[in-house]
Amino acid sequence: MNVSIADAAPAPSEPLGRYIQRVRDSLSLTQVELSAKAGIHVQTIRKIEAGGTSRLSHKGKSGLAAALGIPQEYLDAVVKQTPLETVTALKFCPKCWTPGTTLDPMWTSLRSKYCFACGTTLRDRCGSCNERIMSLKYRFCPYCGESYKN
Ligand SMILES: [Zn+2]
Ligand SMILES: [Zn+2]
Repeated sequence: MNVSIADAAPAPSEPLGRYIQRVRDSLSLTQVELSAKAGIHVQTIRKIEAGGTSRLSHKGKSGLAAALGIPQEYLDAVVKQTPLETVTALKFCPKCWTPGTTLDPMWTSLRSKYCFACGTTLRDRCGSCNERIMSLKYRFCPYCGESYKN
């Protein structure tokens, strides 16, 4: 479960089926394995990936998000075909986050302002030069070279 969040983010107007398949492939999961992890029938996953449905039940969405290690907001963005910036933000706790690892969905939710674990104010920009964080593949700010972690 170490897919970086930048790779796991949906591309603009990427169809749901292709998105699920792409993230599943990046985790080297088969459809059957994903089905077991997500608690969803494998027929449903086949149907989604084949483009047979672009809707997800609440249970399907939470199961897939957990199994794929992505925020549920990503699936919402794909299903509704809305730009990702409007549903989620690259936000992290500068104390708890380990650079290079997936962000906790509780940080990236638009409603979150503070870390659920330690109460630190979440950050979506470099603490040194204030440039917005565009990719979490990097441990250091590409603009000023400052580490993202405190
Ligand atoms: Zn924290
Ligand atoms: Zn910076």
